[in-house]
Amino acid sequence: MLNLVLFGPPGAGKGTQSTKLIEKYELIHLSTGDIFRANIKGETSLGILAKSYIDKGELVPDEVTIKMLESEVVKHETPKGFIFDGFPRTVAQAEALDIFLKEKKTPISGMVALEVSEDELVTRLLERGKTSGRADDSSESTIRNRIAVYEKETSPVAGFYEKQNKFVSINGIGSMDEIFSSLCAEIDKL
Ligand code: AMP
Repeated sequence: MLNLVLFGPPGAGKGTQSTKLIEKYELIHLSTGDIFRANIKGETSLGILAKSYIDKGELVPDEVTIKMLESEVVKHETPKGFIFDGFPRTVAQAEALDIFLKEKKTPISGMVALEVSEDELVTRLLERGKTSGRADDSSESTIRNRIAVYEKETSPVAGFYEKQNKFVSINGIGSMDEIFSSLCAEIDKL
């Protein structure tokens, strides 16, 4: 199985590249942000809880997020692999995912990070906010908070996979196809 963590700050292009990667490698795309948004739309109790964090640009608590992710993984019986997009976002989530996948005997193959500067991220997210309808994309202060939360809580996750020799990073600026080729080149080495 090919289990990838697609890593990078909000606006790095993880969702866009995931769409292309799942097609090429026939993987299941698990985006915790998308799952939360579907729950918000469906007005589930998970959605109501998640919304109170998401709208402020804060992380949804680990316990809730880990439980949700694990319940999504087990829905797929014999997948070729998963792309984890937006998860793990804390070291505690990465540790929980490792333990969970160890039980399933399908460890993470590698983490690939998309590197994009903060100014470029803000520009991209404000642009996306014009059409995405996402409250967390529409104000610059919420966007900057999401990036600050990423720096503080999420960036250490790279070190977690680096220690296992599973981390690689690529330039996330360029055309969609250029970035896709760089990603595939790294994935094909795994
Ligand atoms: P995203 O679509 O990945 O940008 O996620 C949107 C928002 O959902 C984030 O800003 C967080 O509030 C929440 N979220 C998504 N994934 C996670 C996660 N792994 N842990 C905690 N919160 C998350």
